[in-house]
Amino acid sequence: MKNLVTGGSGFVGSHLIDRLMNSGEEVICIDNLSTGREQNIEQWQNNERFKLIKHDIVDPIQLEVDRIWHLACPASPKHYQSNPIKTAKTCFLGTYNMLGLARRTKARLLLASTSEVYGDPEIHPQPESYQGSVNPIGIRSCYDEGKRIAESLCFNYLRVHKTEVRIARIFNTYGPRMLPNDGRVISNFICQSLLQKPLTIYGDGNQTRSFCYIDDLIEGLILLMKSDHIGPINLGNPEEYTILELSNLIIKKINCKLITKRLPRPEDDPIKRKPVIDLAKRLLNWEPSINIDQGLNQTIKYFKDNFNAN
Ligand code: NAD
Ligand code: UDP
Repeated sequence: MKNLVTGGSGFVGSHLIDRLMNSGEEVICIDNLSTGREQNIEQWQNNERFKLIKHDIVDPIQLEVDRIWHLACPASPKHYQSNPIKTAKTCFLGTYNMLGLARRTKARLLLASTSEVYGDPEIHPQPESYQGSVNPIGIRSCYDEGKRIAESLCFNYLRVHKTEVRIARIFNTYGPRMLPNDGRVISNFICQSLLQKPLTIYGDGNQTRSFCYIDDLIEGLILLMKSDHIGPINLGNPEEYTILELSNLIIKKINCKLITKRLPRPEDDPIKRKPVIDLAKRLLNWEPSINIDQGLNQTIKYFKDNFNAN
């Protein structure tokens, strides 16, 4: 199989490429290296089954492929809000270009969508049938509305051109290769703790997230691409934590003397988020197997080994 991974030098994409390459597949990675790093995929650079194309998916590209794993898009609020018009273009034009490629080559396309399509949810936990509560003009809308139009495009290519699409609604994922400066809560808390700085709690810290370790997510993506199910599927770990609970877990692991510092809660920051994963369990026979304790140990080790923050 010839696989195209857009966004393959980023956090999730590079782990997916490791998995595909280790299974003997051919992989083309397209990336503009805006939030991705070449060192995430350098282990494959001299392999004849691997090719990196530095390209921006906002512009069309001609390739021959069998599978498209469409991940290219900044994922952390700090990054996607730093150039919101580009984020919206990546979500719309990038997905449009990849669907055009999928249509011509008859490749199956898997879209990396997000729990952000549920916005600041009014029902809890969130099943795939929930249609969301998104602020269409808010500072997160370049990303959450961007992913909603990307899902819509996928379904219109399915209806009009019979393009094979799969949609993963990914909930907060963490692990090695997150960027130390990407502003996401787990990378922030680990780096702050290692540097002996106070942990930054936005708002009262009672907002919740459900954190999935990267290896579990990759397994879910592989199973979804293979499956016959077309509609969106939540991929996430339903174990839910408040941000304060998370800060205590990390403080305990790194240094019990650390303190926290309160900062204002960002605009439109969702108050609760937790996936219902019954569909993934039933249709993909998938559920996360790595708990927060094991996942945090791996992630802390990565930051210690790679960023000399200890
Ligand atoms: P990331 O920022 O680490 O990776 C995104 C990659 O896409 C980077 O390598 C970046 O350089 C590349 N990219 C961005 N815009 C591009 C463009 N216009 N053309 C070509 N390449 C471009 O983010 P990630 O955490 O690896 O997320 C990957 C995908 O998964 C994203 O689509 C994101 O929306 C989705 N997702 C991630 C999470 C999570 O918790 N990590 C949660 C929900 C959804
Ligand atoms: N958060 C925090 N301190 C930080 C970074 C994030 O309290 O240093 C909070 C943030 O307000 C949000 C949660 O942690 O409620 C998750 O934020 P993140 O940016 O990781 O992901 P997302 O908001 O996209 O789920």
